[in-house]
Amino acid sequence: MDCQTAINMIDPYLDGELEKEICLEFQKHVDGCPSCRTQFRSSKKSVNLMQLVFSDSAPPADMKHKLMDKLRSG
Ligand SMILES: [Zn+2]
Repeated sequence: MDCQTAINMIDPYLDGELEKEICLEFQKHVDGCPSCRTQFRSSKKSVNLMQLVFSDSAPPADMKHKLMDKLRSG
């Protein structure tokens, strides 16, 4: 696997879209290639960050309803 291929596979790899064999090829390349490893780490970090942000900003719909009930009954 060359670097260009590996870079292109970072996203599908993180999404779990790659076949197992290709995953292994990708991991092997990243293990032995510092520049792809750096790229992979920064992508992984931003994916984690995104998941963190999304889970934190999930609208607390239930809370809103409870608040509305409280206001009406209050
Ligand atoms: Zn590489």
